[in-house]
Amino acid sequence: GKKVIIVGSGIAGMAAAIRLSIKGYEVTVFEANSYPGGKLSEINMKGYRFDAGPSLFTLPEQLEELFELANKKTEDFFKYKRLEINCNYFWEDGTKLSAHADVAKFAEEVKTQLGEPAENIKKALNNSAYIYRHLAPLFMHRSLHKWSTWFNKKALSSYLRMGKLGLFKTMNKANTQQFKHPKLVQLFNRYATYNGSNPYQTPATLNIIPHLEFNRGAYFPIKGMHDITSSLFNLAKELGVHFQFNQPVERILVKNNTAKGVKAGGKSYYSDFVINNMDMVTAYKTILKEEKQPERLLKQPKSSSALIFYWGIKKNFPELDLHNILFSNDYEKEFKAIFEKKDLYEDPTVYINITSIHKKDDAPDGSMNWFTMINVPNNQGQDWDTLKIKAKEFIVRKINTTLNTDIEPLIEVEQILDPIGIETKTSSANGALYGNSSNNKYAAFLRHPNYSSSIDKLYFCGGSVHPGGGIPLCLLSAKIMVDMIPKA
Ligand code: FAD
Repeated sequence: GKKVIIVGSGIAGMAAAIRLSIKGYEVTVFEANSYPGGKLSEINMKGYRFDAGPSLFTLPEQLEELFELANKKTEDFFKYKRLEINCNYFWEDGTKLSAHADVAKFAEEVKTQLGEPAENIKKALNNSAYIYRHLAPLFMHRSLHKWSTWFNKKALSSYLRMGKLGLFKTMNKANTQQFKHPKLVQLFNRYATYNGSNPYQTPATLNIIPHLEFNRGAYFPIKGMHDITSSLFNLAKELGVHFQFNQPVERILVKNNTAKGVKAGGKSYYSDFVINNMDMVTAYKTILKEEKQPERLLKQPKSSSALIFYWGIKKNFPELDLHNILFSNDYEKEFKAIFEKKDLYEDPTVYINITSIHKKDDAPDGSMNWFTMINVPNNQGQDWDTLKIKAKEFIVRKINTTLNTDIEPLIEVEQILDPIGIETKTSSANGALYGNSSNNKYAAFLRHPNYSSSIDKLYFCGGSVHPGGGIPLCLLSAKIMVDMIPKA
């Protein structure tokens, strides 16, 4: 049979393996780590379990599609539920908002707490849905780099609407126009961080994101986020995909401008197609270093990174939900620090994800597993050992003042992940979470295509290439890519 080799078992690599196996290929995945999933892994320590990376699950149908394609029942592999509360938001002045998934309820809450007309929420989310309707078919579901994407009626009608789609103003500008209360502007500006961007720079087109959370829904996998990795891994194995762990690929073998296979552990392995799921910037610097470099794409600014404290907390906080945000008092300054000064901000927005709310056995009785995260610049050689200590002080102060507590004595276990850790664990260039940032209006066009334009039989998928980072887009990258490869 015809063979495919995939470099990397991130979720896009596994989705590609599943799709190609269904297309009739014999698939082998080479993975540098001893485990699958890349950024979507888990941590176990002293009775606590943490999802190490992603915590928000949207567009579950992208995952379901893989089980259906394989003629399996999703629920035999993977179960999930829709959240009733998307997120709890807290401010230091005591203001608290629960973002109910039910838009009418959320609008009511916003009216009571902030005096914002309920109408404004509904209008904003309708606008968000409008952007999605016009852009998703063009930017998310197809290769941007094939002429056929541009020469069709739907695409044409989208260009004509670019203004209304928000390409020519920033997200912050659009949100300032659509909401009266600054806290609501802040809340909606935060969606830029869902792909590691800056709301004061990124085009308002990114207001597409609240549509995913409110209109399409935020979900929780019953066994935790890591079950996305486990269930894809199990499906791939059932389909006969071979996995080679602890096998970092050293080079992609290229002859006569055609990919021939890979070299790993000093040995050569040959295949009909090679697929790269590793971060593409790192890939060009390492396993493709002898090949022509796409200079312009490699230089694109990267998304932000994260500093995460995985804390076992020996107390129950009834005011907290699965997703919680403790907002900074000055959001603009926070983003200036992250994206311009490439530094920490002293009053950071703190995100706390607590899976033990829904999955009790993730923490001992009476305790909670806190995934405590702040957005930080990507790694530019800062002194992270010093920054980690400073960040912890900032975070602890923020938590104590906002939740009226003394958190440090309650921390029973701790592990820390910084941008360098993200880089070493997953080869992500600069430890960026989502590949390129979307901070300028051309970003969508400056992602690496899902194929190589100079090397035949070489394809790309994952968060650093088209259509971008985050679970749903990574899964879509595998789909767009496999659609370009003929049946075996
Ligand atoms: P990656 O996960 O980047 O994996 C690439 C794989 O390739 C790794 O396993 C790596 O070991 C392997 N590899 C690298 N080099 C080699 C080599 N030479 N040989 C063999 N194998 C190699 N997304 C969301 O949707 N929601 C969220 O809430 C969210 N939050 C996030 C929070 C954090 C802290 C992080 C880090 C990410 C978050 N993301 C989130 C983004 C999401 O995790 C990523 O976009 C997605 O998991 C990337 O998948 P990928 O397929 O690109 O591969």
